[in-house]
Amino acid sequence: MPEAARRLPACAPCRRRPPRPREGSGVRPPAAVLFDCDGVLADSEMLVNTVVADQLTALGWPMTPSESREAFLGLSLPDMVPRIEARVGPLPDGWALEISQLLALEMTRNTPEVPGAVAAVRAVVAAGIPVAVASNSARAELAAKLRALGLAETFGARVFSFEDVPRPKPWPDIYIAAAASCGAAPQDCVVIEDSVPGVRAGRAAGCRVLGFAHETPAGVLAAHGAEPFAAMAELAGLLGLR
Ligand SMILES: [Mg+2]
Repeated sequence: MPEAARRLPACAPCRRRPPRPREGSGVRPPAAVLFDCDGVLADSEMLVNTVVADQLTALGWPMTPSESREAFLGLSLPDMVPRIEARVGPLPDGWALEISQLLALEMTRNTPEVPGAVAAVRAVVAAGIPVAVASNSARAELAAKLRALGLAETFGARVFSFEDVPRPKPWPDIYIAAAASCGAAPQDCVVIEDSVPGVRAGRAAGCRVLGFAHETPAGVLAAHGAEPFAAMAELAGLLGLR
């Protein structure tokens, strides 16, 4: 059984109820806030896409970092592999593991923060609301990014990679697991996402989704059911924390 699955609560009765609305605020704070990582906490997309573009160019699919972003934004490695193999033929044995280790190494060296993201997470925690991370990254790469951002202890065991659930985003599995790790029902949680597969996963899980319009235009995120926002400084207000 994956490690994260063992962390899931065994029963529903202990579920956390959503807090009451704050005085003067029309928004009821959520029972938990579930963060995507890439493009929401870590401004890592360009770094990741540079590595992917270099690898694919070497394999015979010439690609720039922005073309890599266009082709693969929000996808997990297992979902990228068939698209790559359709273009370049069968990949060398261990290719996915190799690129995953390379990305983890890059993230350990340099994980830029999305401006205001760490403060936004800390504001949620200070309000007494549990937080979790749900990412289509591999487990080692995700852990490296959270360590580099100084958020590993903040999220503790409530960290979910695609490796921890049966199906990656856009399936809802990872957000259902993340909500359960916070003792909350998905419909009482808010998901923070920046990609179409991530928004679809959060909505499919039954969560309210706030779409950070950074890598993907606001209108595209809204068309998939997210409420777009433009800066992390807006998050506390959107969550009903002030
Ligand atoms: Mg993302």
